[in-house]
This record gives sequence, C-alpha cells and structure tokens, in this order.
Amino acid sequence: MKHVYYFGKKGTEGRKDMKDILGGKGANLAEMANIGVPVPPGFTLTTETCAEYYENEEKISDAAKAEIEENLAKLEEEMDAKLGDAENPLLLSVRSGAAVSMPGMMDTILNLGLNDESVQGLIKKSGNERFAWDSYRRLIQMFGDVVMGVEHHDFEEILDKAKETKGVQFDTELDAEDLKGLVEEYKALVQEKAGRPFPTDVKEQLMMAVDAVFGSWNNDRAINYRRLNDIKGLKGTAVNAQTMVFGNMGETSGTGVCFSRDPSTGENVFYGEYLMNAQGEDVVAGIRTPQPITQLQEVMPEVYEELVAIYKKLEEHYKDMQDMEFTIQNKKLFMLQTRIGKRTAEAAVRMAVEMLEEGLIDEKTAVLRVNPNQLDQLLHPQLDPVAKEKHTTLGKGLPASPGGAVGKVAFTNESAVEMKEAGDKVVLVRNDTSPEDLMGMDAAVGILTAKGGMTSHAAVVARGMGKCCVSGLGDAKVNEASKTLILGGETFTEGDYITLDGTSGEVFKGQIPTKDPELTGNFGKLMELADKFRTMGVRTNAETPRDARQAVKFGAEGIGLCRTEHMFFEGDRIKAVREMIVANDVEGRKKALAKIKPYQKDDFKELFKIMGGKPITIRLLDPPLHEFLPKEEEDIKQMAEETGVTVEDLKSKIESLHEVNPMLGHRGCRLGVTYPEITEMQSEAIFEAAKEVSEEGTLVKPEVMVPLVGNVNELKDQKAIILRVAKEVLGQDSDVKFLIGTMIEVPRAALTADLIAAEAEFFSFGTNDLTQMTLGFSRDDVGKFVPEYVSKGLLEKDPFQVLDQTGVGQLVEMAVKKGRETRPEIKLGIFGEHGGEPSSVEFCYRTGLNYVSCSPFRVPIARLAAAQAVAREQ
Ligand code: ADP
Ligand code: MG
Ligand code: MG
Repeated sequence: MKHVYYFGKKGTEGRKDMKDILGGKGANLAEMANIGVPVPPGFTLTTETCAEYYENEEKISDAAKAEIEENLAKLEEEMDAKLGDAENPLLLSVRSGAAVSMPGMMDTILNLGLNDESVQGLIKKSGNERFAWDSYRRLIQMFGDVVMGVEHHDFEEILDKAKETKGVQFDTELDAEDLKGLVEEYKALVQEKAGRPFPTDVKEQLMMAVDAVFGSWNNDRAINYRRLNDIKGLKGTAVNAQTMVFGNMGETSGTGVCFSRDPSTGENVFYGEYLMNAQGEDVVAGIRTPQPITQLQEVMPEVYEELVAIYKKLEEHYKDMQDMEFTIQNKKLFMLQTRIGKRTAEAAVRMAVEMLEEGLIDEKTAVLRVNPNQLDQLLHPQLDPVAKEKHTTLGKGLPASPGGAVGKVAFTNESAVEMKEAGDKVVLVRNDTSPEDLMGMDAAVGILTAKGGMTSHAAVVARGMGKCCVSGLGDAKVNEASKTLILGGETFTEGDYITLDGTSGEVFKGQIPTKDPELTGNFGKLMELADKFRTMGVRTNAETPRDARQAVKFGAEGIGLCRTEHMFFEGDRIKAVREMIVANDVEGRKKALAKIKPYQKDDFKELFKIMGGKPITIRLLDPPLHEFLPKEEEDIKQMAEETGVTVEDLKSKIESLHEVNPMLGHRGCRLGVTYPEITEMQSEAIFEAAKEVSEEGTLVKPEVMVPLVGNVNELKDQKAIILRVAKEVLGQDSDVKFLIGTMIEVPRAALTADLIAAEAEFFSFGTNDLTQMTLGFSRDDVGKFVPEYVSKGLLEKDPFQVLDQTGVGQLVEMAVKKGRETRPEIKLGIFGEHGGEPSSVEFCYRTGLNYVSCSPFRVPIARLAAAQAVAREQ
C-alpha cells in the first residue's frame, strides 16, 4: 500500500479524482500543482493510512513512517531547506482533509518545525525577528491545543494579558521582545497543563501532529458533523504536510479566502475577503474584520490580477464555483486550497442556470448541479416586504445566508435546544460561533452574530444548513453570560422575539410576517429544464383551494391525494359529521350525511375548477370515526347539547367507538363496507360536482380511490356503489370520464395486486401505512424508538421519511409487476412523505411508477428529483 503522495516540482503523484484516498484538499492541491497554479510543495498521507492507523491500535505504521521520511527528504531537497535547521529551516503546515469537506472540523497546525534553534534560523532567513517569534508562539499555541490538549482559551488568556500590559488592542502591535516572552509563557503553560514539555525534536513534532490529525477523525466535533450532515462510508481523513508560506511577514504579506462567484447570491462576480499581515485562520476567526477582496486591487494590483487569472482558470478547469484560500508572502501569491464552494440554494440555482447559458456546463450537468433537498430553502418564506416597511431596522449586519427568520432569542446552545424542544422557533444570538455551536445552530431557525465576516464559521455553516444568518453586526452588544442583546437602543433577553432578514442583513424587533415564495426567474428556468428531462409525473396532495392553487403554481400536474376527511373538520361541518357518527341507525346517518353533502360537493367543484382538466384522485373517508369526536369534558357537553343527546349517551357512544388499535381497526374501506351510505354520499358529491363543472365547460378528471383495501372483494363491494351512483348522476353518455382505483397500503394488497388490478384502474401506493404495516411500526409511536435505532445504526434512516427500499420497496415492486400483468395500462402513483423525498422519487422512477405526489411545497423538489433520476441514467 502506498501511504504518501508527493506534490511539487519533484513530481506530483495525485489528481483531482483521487479524493477518496487523498481527501478533497490533497487531491485539489495535487491538481493545482498539475495545472501550474502556484502551490507550496508538500505531501499527502492517504485516508487509507488513517484507516490503517485505527486498525493498528491508533498507531502510525512503520511503513507509513518510512514513506513520510522519504517524502520529507524529497521536499527538503526541493525547498533547499531542512526541517529544524538552525540556519535555513523548512517549516510545514499539517492539515487534515477528508474526501468530503468538513469545515472547521479538524484543526490545522502551522509553522511546524520551529524550536529554540530553528527560530534563530528563521530570523536569519527572513531578517524579521518579530515575524519569527510570532510564528513560534503560534506553533506552540496551535500544537498545544490540537496535539497536546491544552485549552485554546488558556493561551488566549496569556495573549490578552500581554496586550493589556502593553496597552494595545491587536496582536500585530506586540513586538519581537513581547512575542519572545509569550513563547516562554506558552511553553510553561504546556508543561503545566500537559505534564510534559513542548517537543523540541522537529520529527517528533511532525509525527505527533500526524497522529493528532488522525486522532481527530473520531473526536466528538467530527462525529457530530458527520452525523448532522449525513456523511457516511469514508475511510478517514488524509493529512497534508505542506511547506509554509507566510502571510504574517508584514504589510506586503497577507492571507485570504475567495470565491469565483458570490456563494450567497450566485452572481458572477469575484468575491472574498483578506487581511494583511495575518496568518491562517485569522480571516475566518472574526478577531480582526477583513477587507473585501476588491480592495486588494488597490493595495497590490499585480497580485490581484494574478489572483483573478487563477480563479478564472480554476473555475474553467473544475467547471464549478471554487472556494479558494490564498496567502501572499512578500507580494508573492500562493494558493493553499481550492474546492467546490458551498452555496445557498438561491446561488446554486442561479449558477446552474448561468453556467449553462455561458456554455461552461451542459444541460444534464445543470440539472444535476442543484441538490433537490436544498430547494427547500427557496420554498421557505421570505419576510413580507410590505410588513417589513412598517418596521424600523435596529441594525444592519452582513447578509450571510438569505431568507427570513422569526423567533425567540437564545444565547446558548442549551437554551436553543431546550426552546426548540418546547416547540418554539429560535434565533441563536452569539458574538461568534465555533464548531461547538453546531447543536445550537441546528436547533435555530436563524443565526445572528456580532462578529465575523461573510466567511466566518457562522456564515459558512448557516449557508450549508440553509438557515438564515446575519453576521458581523458590530453594533450588537451581545453578553452571553448575562444573556442580553443590546441593539438599536433595545435590550433583548432570552425568549424575546426578533426577526432577521438574511437577504439584506437587517434585524428587527418583534415578529414580521412572512410571504410564500414564487417560481420565477432562474428558479423557473431550472424547473423548465428539469421538465425537459423528467418522464414521471408530479402531482400534489391537496384538499384546500389554497394548497391546490399553490401546487399548480409550483407545477403540479394533478392532485394525487385529496383527503376528504380534512374537509370534514371545517366550521359547521364537524357538527353534521358528529351527528352522523352518533346516529343510531341508517336513517339517522343518512339525514346527517345529507347535511354534509352540499359542503363536499362545493369543495370538489372548487378543486375541479382550480385544477382545470388535471386529474384529481379523491380518497373516500379513511380515518377511524372516533377521531372526529371530542375528548375534553367541556366539548363533550357542548356536543351533547348540539346533537340533542344526553351527556351519558354520548359518553357511552364514544366509549363504544374506542378501539385498542385504531390504525388497524374500523377505518378505510371497512367504514364504507359497514356504512355504505357514506360511500354513497361521497360518490354523489363527487359526480354531481363533476357533472356541474363539466357542464360549465371545464374538463374534469375525477379518480375515485378506495382506501385500505387488502382483499379484492372489498374493492368490488365499494366499486359497485360508486358505479351505481355514477350512473344515476351522470346518465348514459356523459362527458365526465372517471377512474376507480385503490390504494396499495396493506401488505396483502401488494401480495394480491394481480387480483386487485382486475377491479382497479389505478393503484396509488400509500407508503406511510404500507411502511407502518410492513415494519409493524406504529407511525404515531415511532418517536419513542426510531431515533435511537438510527443513532445506533440499526436503521440507516427513519423509514417514514426515506422509503425502506429493501423491505417496503419489494412490496411496491411486486405490486407494480403483478398489477401490470393483469392490466397493462394501469396507472401507478405514490403519495405520502416519500413522494417528495429525492431518493424515494428516484426509486419510484426505477420501479416504473407514472407519477409521484407530494405536499405543494415539495412539488419543485420532486420535479427536480424526477429529472435527476433520468439524467443520472444517461
Ligand atoms: P480548513 O480545513 O479549516 O480549511 P486548512 O487546512 O485549509 O483548514 O488550514 C487553515 C488555514 O491555515 C488555511 O486557510 C491557511 O490560511 C493556513 N495554512 C494552511 N497551510 C498553510 C501553508 N502551507 N502556508 C501558510 N498557511 C497555511
Ligand atoms: Mg480549520
Ligand atoms: Mg481551508
């Protein structure tokens, strides 16, 4: 096994497509070296070496050590300098980098190779005493923190004290003597806290650093990040040892972060930040506020031009937006990293569309470029601009991640999580965030930080999570200890409402209403492109006119599920429904049903009109009847009065409807079989509505769906009623064409789909119930154990969110096959949570379904996912 890959003038061994073993950073460093971008030379230890480390009781193997030595010698030769040399020392950075980027997850060690001798060499070589001591104290600090477990905070305390004693604000104001003093204090701190001295043997430094990076692969932060971002199946992290270049050599040196396009809006402009006389993470740490990249054009025009040429070259080479890190050492530019940049959904969509228009990528690439789940961000509300006008802005920070967020202020991760669990929307307010804050950020709907730029930790992570974020709001006085925020003359304490506009950076007091999004501009273009690829239909689950209209705007091609019971709850209807339930005989029920019918009919008429010729699958009454009855004493009394029965009688009726296991009880078509008058009334409402709307000139396509069929005889029974009513209402040669079909949601229905297809003109897979009954997991009780199943790895995903393709999927496949054997033209669809979940949508495509149906806001997601399923096959 090859453990180490070299990059530099002495031969670059890696390539960009070797992420798996070199990690993203290592593969891209090699690639940059290959295409002539200035990169400090170095070598990469593979992710396989990390895996080996874990197999080898967390020890670096001798073979790996030997290859490190070999490559170090090669590097020393190329650089004409030696690690630890007292005259001409080589310094290294030791950086982690897995195949998937995990920002801030594993720390980098800079200036490795310094000790009391080589620091003298660095002074001689650079002629800059201050710089050399600054580099040394940074090494002890980083090494002490990352490798030896001394708290970062303890070092900062010493540094703060030094600044205070001197009466200065920034570390750049400390001179060589001060820094030399710091080195001594830091060393003493390491000795005290770690119980051993800072290692002066430079090779030991290197091996300890590599060991620490490998070790960090399994620290809590990294594990947490992988869990939150659903990153699985990686071998480990790679380690990059790279020649140091110095951004902290004075005012002609600096370091920065830049993007080939704006990662927040997607606009095709050069974007980024830099700091002069700074090193490493100074830019993103939010201690000093960085300058916008365009400023560099004035400060160092030549370097700026070179950087522009490089970013263009890299974007052209990778054919995607690049997120780059660079360092300028005495006016000489070096690239330290490039990767595909994270982006907001808005930016992802805009870049996909514009790169296609520019001819940088083709249509298939454009369709595959946007993660369907990410679209969710765009389908979230924005602040209502009219309402916003009426509020005065308390302050304006950086628009770090777009969208609107309204919530209660929380100052700590603990309270953010607690408040979320109590059902509140939370805005996390901090001075700045670090990887320790992931849980709090995850719980929040929005994040506000006083410090940090557009590339601060908070900004990057919020964009990744698709959460609204305002960063760098300098006017905000955040006191995390006393839990207060003072802004624009207002004081907020935990629990107070605040509103963020991540699109503009503004912050408001109280709650501003939000507005639904629209499919216009680039989003609209992307959807059109998706529809060019897509072969599977996308419908929506809707029963209210509002949902139906929204879904049509989002491109729904029909309603895949109209749940009639939802129509029973509104206003006065529930009274008639209850009257029907408590009725003691058929006559009583019919009387009550007659009151419900006009409502149902009107609902259907409106839906038919809105959908204008698009099919609507109407499901007959499905839930157990007791769901419509009151539970509280008060309500029971009131209902007794309204229906004219005694409280005693009503209670005994409720008692009699009680079921031990209502989900497997008297519901679905079992209601229609035992109370045929319900099916009759619903059929009348459907066909009368269809007839009237059709006569007004609107095409109607009702599809009547019988729920919970497990035996073809149930469907036969219900179908007879529906057909009889249809004939009565529509007469002989009606224009109204309708279908009768069933849901496949009971495992037996899937097993006997060939028999059922003899009666059913369509199948619609109700994968919520099918999952429930196949796994034997009560959908309403899974909260008690499924999360633990997932965290213990017994289940990869919650099967109610992501279709269990291995198990439930087999039933779907079987039903599709058997159904088509009996009736080749049978229409097949799916609805439920899975209808709008990308991996499940892809499964539906592969299985050969005709359409998926999902909630209105997921329609665009399903359209894109359905297009990607096709594109991926090409
Ligand atoms: P991350 O994974 O957090 O991006 P990096 O490995 O990129 O960590 O290192 C963090 C920072 O350290 C870089 O942005 C860069 O500024 C600095 N750095 C890394 N390697 C070098 C180097 N060879 N010379 C100078 N600075 C470096
Ligand atoms: Mg880092
Ligand atoms: Mg980096």
